Amino acid sequence: TFRALVIDNVEGNQTVAFRDLSRSDLPDHDVLVEIAYSTLNYKDGLAVSGKGRIARRLPMVAGIDLAGTVVESRSADWKVGDQVVVNGWGLSETEWGGYSRFQRLKPEWLTRLPDAFTPLQAMAIGTAGYTASLCVDALEDWGRIQPGVGEVLVTGAAGGVGSVAISLLAARGYNVTAATGRPETHDFLRGLGATNFISREDLLAKGGPLQKERWTGGVDAVGSTILANALAQTVRGGAIACCGLAGGADLPATVLPHILRSVALIGVDSVMASASQRDRAWQRLARDLDPGKLDTLTRVEPLSKIQALGDEILAGNVRGRVVIDVTA
Ligand code: NAP
Repeated sequence: TFRALVIDNVEGNQTVAFRDLSRSDLPDHDVLVEIAYSTLNYKDGLAVSGKGRIARRLPMVAGIDLAGTVVESRSADWKVGDQVVVNGWGLSETEWGGYSRFQRLKPEWLTRLPDAFTPLQAMAIGTAGYTASLCVDALEDWGRIQPGVGEVLVTGAAGGVGSVAISLLAARGYNVTAATGRPETHDFLRGLGATNFISREDLLAKGGPLQKERWTGGVDAVGSTILANALAQTVRGGAIACCGLAGGADLPATVLPHILRSVALIGVDSVMASASQRDRAWQRLARDLDPGKLDTLTRVEPLSKIQALGDEILAGNVRGRVVIDVTA
């Protein structure tokens, strides 16, 4: 048997607890993966704290990401020994996830681990970092934002999405302004490539629907008033890629930036992104993410501490990325 973190319903109450499973308890999918590491994302915090109804089928093994090695395969696409990554695809929502020593998965959910990364590094990136990469792809596809011209805004800068987005944008030559509520992270963010800072309070201040044009583009992990202000401060023809709701799921905004300045709001969903979008995002990470920088934004924690770590990310106290060692 092996240990897994299971969300269940016991006498009408949602429970989150470690349980011993055997391989025969796992779903009957075609590929069995021995998991080395998982991660802690904001959504994992919601799931393990019970504060967000992330699991939509019970019992559910939590953990939206995993990296490991194929140990059994009924698929022609994967063979024993292949190193793989899984991000999203409903893991921890409708499909059993990565907070376990083993998991059985559908072949089409697996992404080949790029040579550039170890399983630990792939989980240092995790859904947060891969989503940051999807956001940068979305901004480049918009096609009107030039490296070195103007400023690109990254909100929730010291968090997982934000810190990887800064690294990726800086590597391509964009001038990155980091918006953070934690001034003590400025040195860390400068080390990742941010050249300018704006406080969370400044971006939360009440402003009009069309403010002074400042951002050529942006990656937003926060939503709500901060996203509304970011849009109102975006230059004509600029774009903000929006992927998160750490500050709220509402959007108290007007259409004016869009209809008077052709500003685009580009939505980014990582969970159901296609295999080709995933491959492209992972290729960008392999090309542009300096492994040394990745190490500076990563810490490894044991699965046994997951509940406290979940509370920490929901409180906004995690800096960078937390990798979860599922064996500890
Ligand atoms: P995280 O590490 O906790 O980072 C979130 C950051 O947002 C925090 O570090 C903090 O940055 C800022 N923040 C937190 N609470 C805030 C508040 N009340 N007001 C303003 N800013 C606040 O989380 P993450 O894993 O990077 O995820 C970030 C968001 O993206 C989450 O909402 C997550 O669900 C979402 N997400 C979506 C997708 C997708 O597929 N669309 C994928 C991954 C993540 P500072 O300390 O620097 O201010």
